Parts: sequence; structure tokens; C-alpha cells
Amino acid sequence: MKNKLDKLVKIFKANENTIHVITGAGVSVASNIRAFRGENGIYNDEREDNLQPEFLLSVEALKTHPMEVKQFYKDNLDPTIRIEPNITHILLAQLEQNNFITGVITQNIDELHQKSGSKNVSAIHGTLTPDGFYCTKCKTQFTFEDYLNQVYCEIKGCKGYIRPNIVLYGDCLQDEPIEKAFEIAGASNYVVVMGSSLLVSTVYPFMNYAELIIINNEPTYFDNQAYLVINEDLSVVSKYLKEHLVG
Ligand SMILES: [Zn+2]
Repeated sequence: MKNKLDKLVKIFKANENTIHVITGAGVSVASNIRAFRGENGIYNDEREDNLQPEFLLSVEALKTHPMEVKQFYKDNLDPTIRIEPNITHILLAQLEQNNFITGVITQNIDELHQKSGSKNVSAIHGTLTPDGFYCTKCKTQFTFEDYLNQVYCEIKGCKGYIRPNIVLYGDCLQDEPIEKAFEIAGASNYVVVMGSSLLVSTVYPFMNYAELIIINNEPTYFDNQAYLVINEDLSVVSKYLKEHLVG
């Protein structure tokens, strides 16, 4: 393992500002946010109603199963619960400050990269904030608390359904984060993917043309295409990189 970590340190030192990072849910697990996939992921939860998380996170479910969707957010994605960045978020902010990386493209909606000081961040699935809900019909903004009290908009009999301002299954990606992500991926020599099982295709366009480095606690389908694969706890890897790159 140490050989691989040393190899990674060398790559960072030799490729200043031509490396970008893609992060997935695994990066936030140490901040007590559950990953969707993997051993203890939300997707493994047994539900009596057999509704799948992919479905509960879809636009369709907001219309057909609003109460179940609301409960799912309450149980798994409550944006009012205070969470703190962990060593991996802090490392990535420091790598950016020290010009080792161009920025971070994240699948996470928890805003922890921004909170830890990363400036160049593309949250391609959006960010779930306590006031980031809106009526799909009249576009009135709502808070998470409002949403918990009313899944339908009650303004002047509007009755539109309320949804979070993030990218759900069935949504298109938004232009702004996509443009930002292409800017971050730019002319990278390497892309480092951290804490993602790489099953969600939205990040694939930002993995092209660069040598792939995968750091994940379990294997991914892209391992055989990767230049370097490190299957290790992210906190361990981040601690090592922090010590050897930013002190
Ligand atoms: Zn409305």
C-alpha cells in the first residue's frame, strides 16, 4: 500500500495544476453521511414498501409517492443536520490552495467541499440546502421545514408539488455546474476519483483524456482501466497525502 501512496505523491508533485478530482459519497462517510451504495449504503436498507432509493430520488416519485419521498429525505438527507468536513475535504481544499489540483467535481449534495475551503467546485448534482426547496408550479421558494409540513404548495390554491433544488433521477443536469466541471477537468493529465463507485454516469465526461486514478474502499468497474487503483480507507489515504504534500 505504501508503494502505491508514494507513487501517488510523486504524481501530484510532478503534475502541478494538471490534476482534477472527482468525489462521490464515500468522501462524506467520515462526516457521518451515509453513502448510497456499498456495504452500509442507503441502497441496502430493507424497506417494507420495497421502494428503491433510485425511485424515491426521482422526479416521478415526487408526484406519485410524495409522503414516502418526504420521509426518505427526513431519514436520509435532512439538510438541517449540522455536518462538518472531514480530513479528505480539508486535504482537497489544501491541494487546491497549493496548486496541486485544479478543482473538485463532486456528485455530493452536502456542500462539504465548499465548507472546507475549496473554491473551484462543481457540484454536478446540485447542493441540498435548508432553504433549497421550491414549488414546481409557481416557483415559490420553501425551506426544508416548510416541505416537511406541506408536500404541496398551498399558496393561492396552487397545489404544485414541492421539490428540492438538486438533480434528481429524471432531471437534466444543469448547465452551470457542467460548464464549471469542464473548466476544472480542462487539460488535466490525471483525474483522481475518490469515494465513488462510478456507477452514476454523470461524471464520465470528466474522466476522458486523463489517466485515471481510483481511490475507493472497494473495487469499481473502472479499476481495470485505471492507471492506479488504491483500495483503502479514504481517511488513511488523505492523512498520508496531507503529510507528504501539504504538511
Ligand atoms: Zn406553488
